[in-house]
Amino acid sequence: MTLDPTLFGEIDPPQRLLMGPGPVNAHPRVLRAMAADLLGQFDPEMTGFMNQVMALYRPVFGTENQWTMLIDGTARAAIEASLVSLVEPGDTVLVVNFGRFGLLLTEILTRLGARIETVSAPWGEVVPMDAIADAIEHHGPKVVTTVHGDTSTTMAQPLDGLGALCKAAGAYLYVDACATLGGMEIAADRWGVDVVTAGLQKCLGGPSGSAPITISDRAAERIFARRHVEQGIRRADIADGTGPRIPSNYFDLAMIMDYWSEKRLNHHTEATSMLYAARECARVALGEGLEQRFARHRKAGAAMTAGVRAMGLTVYGDDAHRMTNVTGVHIPDGVDGEAIRTAMRAHFEIEIGTAFGPLQGRIWRLGAMGYNAMKHKVLLTLVALEACLTAAGHKVPLGAAVPAAIAAWEAA
Ligand SMILES: *Cc1c(COP(=O)(O)O)cnc(C)c1O
Repeated sequence: MTLDPTLFGEIDPPQRLLMGPGPVNAHPRVLRAMAADLLGQFDPEMTGFMNQVMALYRPVFGTENQWTMLIDGTARAAIEASLVSLVEPGDTVLVVNFGRFGLLLTEILTRLGARIETVSAPWGEVVPMDAIADAIEHHGPKVVTTVHGDTSTTMAQPLDGLGALCKAAGAYLYVDACATLGGMEIAADRWGVDVVTAGLQKCLGGPSGSAPITISDRAAERIFARRHVEQGIRRADIADGTGPRIPSNYFDLAMIMDYWSEKRLNHHTEATSMLYAARECARVALGEGLEQRFARHRKAGAAMTAGVRAMGLTVYGDDAHRMTNVTGVHIPDGVDGEAIRTAMRAHFEIEIGTAFGPLQGRIWRLGAMGYNAMKHKVLLTLVALEACLTAAGHKVPLGAAVPAAIAAWEAA
């Protein structure tokens, strides 16, 4: 069998504007960084870049944690690495669940043999802090896990104070901040979160495939204690059954921390081009200023919300806990949500998001994150949505969305 390689042309994707819940378009500087030449994984230039990445992501996470680095893989890789490294079979783990990504935590913890307890909010709400406090007191978990912004419901769980509750109960706190890091404040140290993980493809404005992580010294100690092997004798240890108790090699955070430490113990081959991307994402974010960046996301979210409301559409979920970077919108009665999404893509090259689980077919999700949290991109999305709804025979007040969005942008 021969295959004519010219059958499949050079990669030349359409210029879509990605205004869903992620991924979003990468900042051009990030794409350029990814085209830089490759290095060997122990080249001093390369390990220098690794150290720079550690330094760059500390302020991004709001932490002084030594162990601030990258997991090679999408955001889910860092979630899995955290849980597999922190949680032992039989540990009681509390999942603070308010959407699909809380269910993902539960699914991974089930595979790990954790004793799972859950404190939940209905979709579209967050879990009240006193309900979490009661659940911690009642169940005495070893680890508490939650999500910051759950894109499935567009809600952001308040985390200030949760770390103190966990510490007082002797529990470790894990947070999935994939959808908010770089767009909403994450204060890992002030909030007392032990492990926070993210991805690049949301508010950091990069491609998926690298997952920033930060680990407190206290959590690192627990993880290193699970290693309990001397350097260099891991294979023998595994063979005699007394070896690493972290039941994953690729996601063994103890081994990954050793690789990112000055010891540079070989683990995987650091994903060089993705590290360049992650490094540039952080440089772009810190160059803009985190406060300015959060404000830009706040303005984009306010503009999107005001625009869809001016069109007479209903915004999904609890106003008080909305993520700033993704907005859920009820699909009006009689409108085919998928047909509108198709028309937005076909006529305007704009992608908006569908929804999962109980919200499937009920809401669209309109994102404005990272490089796409810009006024003109929000306005283009609103104009396109207005045109596609009108063409589909759904009456909206023509021309109302844009001025409402501009006013909200300016006021936010
Ligand atoms: C988008 C998102 C992820 C993404 O995980 P990937 O493995 O990168 O697809 C994880 N968690 C949350 C809360 C998200 O919104």
